[in-house]
Amino acid sequence: MVPKSTTLCYNSIMISEIKDFNLEELKKELARRGIPEFRASQVFHWLYKQQVASFWEMNNLPRDMIKLLEENYSLSAVTTAQEFISKDDSRKYLLKLKDGNQIETVLIPNPDRQTVCLSTQVGCKFCCRMCASGLKKFVRNLTAAEILEQLLYAQKKAGSRITNIVFMGMGEPLENFDQVIKAIRVINSSEGPEIAARKITISTAGFIPGIKKIAEIELQLNLSVSLHATTDELRNELMPINKTYPIRDLVAACQNYFQKTKRIVTIEYVLLKGKNDAVDDARRLAGIVKALKGKVNLIPFNPYTELKLEPTAREDMERFKYWLERDQVPVTIRDSRGSDIMAACGQLLGKAGQ
Ligand code: SAH
Repeated sequence: MVPKSTTLCYNSIMISEIKDFNLEELKKELARRGIPEFRASQVFHWLYKQQVASFWEMNNLPRDMIKLLEENYSLSAVTTAQEFISKDDSRKYLLKLKDGNQIETVLIPNPDRQTVCLSTQVGCKFCCRMCASGLKKFVRNLTAAEILEQLLYAQKKAGSRITNIVFMGMGEPLENFDQVIKAIRVINSSEGPEIAARKITISTAGFIPGIKKIAEIELQLNLSVSLHATTDELRNELMPINKTYPIRDLVAACQNYFQKTKRIVTIEYVLLKGKNDAVDDARRLAGIVKALKGKVNLIPFNPYTELKLEPTAREDMERFKYWLERDQVPVTIRDSRGSDIMAACGQLLGKAGQ
């Protein structure tokens, strides 16, 4: 079914976002209008392989069909509002949705890969204390079309294939489960952008119902969990979601994900000076991560002016990393980019950066 929010009504004609249909749905939708199934595959090819901006560019379709598409469907759920280029070459795209809301997409170019960071909601419900996105009130879930278009937009700007996707933009992806998974299935498909699930990472604040659901589907996605604290006391303070889904239950959900999918779970841990960066924190973190056979990604805290938290110094981060390694825990430090344009993790607010 097409999500309601993307169906607009102009002079009593219903305009649907064409990217809200997966291939099977598009076949049925077009069949309803008397168009043979193979035409849906052609449309898909134009949308995802050629990335056309207009139905008139679909030059192997009959003119009548193009006219029908033009009259009943929209090709652009998002438009550019602003673009920012960082000193480190990462790019932040502030994108405008049809209802006037704004979201952010970040492109992180590397010599060997192009990574895009996608938003999944306008605002966020979870109000994590270290995250700027939590300061913006939750407005709504994004639709599959709005998620897919962020990817296509970044790919067009990059001028080459996107190789990796991280759902680490604004919002909680597992709280918008159906639309996120629908978009991912299109992204994976051979008729679509064709990016393998193993190249896609979903990051969650610890929304256990979503972790349980994602363990049950057969996709080989990477799961990252924002832990950031090793005691419920501190996690309750930093991440209010912990009051509903405490650490013990979260660890059990991650263990279940690993058992079902055999995918190693990454525990994300933002290092905050004097808050969660002591040797005892490292010891407890090692215990948690070993219990779920996971690995750790330490994240440098990207300060945001309205937040009263401070980053751990680089040398102290290295020391924290050493403490984990000493306990045989696999650990990396995230290469955080785009902070000068407010494009780094936790800085996405859906408005212009500096
Ligand atoms: N809601 C999801 C995805 C969005 S946040 C989640 O919570 O995981 C993506 C990552 O950035 C998470 O690990 C999050 O904890 C981290 N993050 C949030 N604020 C940050 C900040 N100020 N500095 C660095 N990382 C931050």
